[in-house]
Amino acid sequence: MQNILDAAIGFSLPHTLEGKTASYIPELSKVDARQLGVAVVDMDGKSWSSGDCHNVFTMQSISKVAALMLAIMDNGEQYVFSKVGMEPTGDPFNSIIKLETMKTAKPLNPMINAGAIAVDSLISGEGVEDKLNRLIGFVRKLCHNDKIWFNQDVYTSESTTGFRNRALANFMKDAGIIEGEVEAVLELYFKQCSIEVNALDIAMMGAVLAGDGKSPITGEVLIPKGIARLVKTFMVTCGMYDASGEFAVRVGLPSKSGVGGGIVAAVPGQMGIGVFGPALDSKGNSAGGIKILEYISKELDLSIF
Ligand code: GLU
Repeated sequence: MQNILDAAIGFSLPHTLEGKTASYIPELSKVDARQLGVAVVDMDGKSWSSGDCHNVFTMQSISKVAALMLAIMDNGEQYVFSKVGMEPTGDPFNSIIKLETMKTAKPLNPMINAGAIAVDSLISGEGVEDKLNRLIGFVRKLCHNDKIWFNQDVYTSESTTGFRNRALANFMKDAGIIEGEVEAVLELYFKQCSIEVNALDIAMMGAVLAGDGKSPITGEVLIPKGIARLVKTFMVTCGMYDASGEFAVRVGLPSKSGVGGGIVAAVPGQMGIGVFGPALDSKGNSAGGIKILEYISKELDLSIF
């Protein structure tokens, strides 16, 4: 495994030059674009890593996976999916167009920004702080890391420039999709996107999903099996933005990426993989990270299809 990870980094590093760090969140544009790291955690909790696997980055959209699981545990599947759909969009992650042109303003799925903001409005708790603490507590369990917290600078940066997400949230409030106060939901959303992790953390989260919700370290069931399977299905159909189809063909693993440069992948029954490379391709996925996953998937014949 170690040799494969080292070779995957060597193979993928040149591809970081094909991407750029996200610039629409000013703080993310300051990050060193050449970083590249990978980590793997197997079903016994054994881990391997290579490259910049200890460097931290913000989860961004990877947090949508955790928020969705928590919202379903809080409200049940039926209620959550009365507010958000189950279909891929083919549009960019922050697109507003379908909210108005579809019959209802229900966002198409929980992996796009509109859907994730709607999901956040369903997380239980007394106010933003309580909801955020619950969500971060859950992420800590999934990543088996008690130190995880959010990055204040990235949060402030997105909160002061997130006009598109504000538009999505206001539109959904008007349409009766969002419950509660719009600014409070957005605060929770921007803070959850700023949760800081490294490649090992998200490899652990991938391993929990790969094990249908069971921690590979403690054996504790962190997510009911049905919910773990449900989110893995969303990861296959919508996890890599509007590149999910091509990614399914080339890599074939339930995965979720974020514009911070991370990608979490789950190999059912085998392992979790976490990659980090902040240089993004035109769809918003880590340019080097995708190559790492392509390489490992081919070498170990991991595609689920
Ligand atoms: N915080 C980011 C946004 O809402 C997350 C996007 C992403 O990672 O896809 O734009």
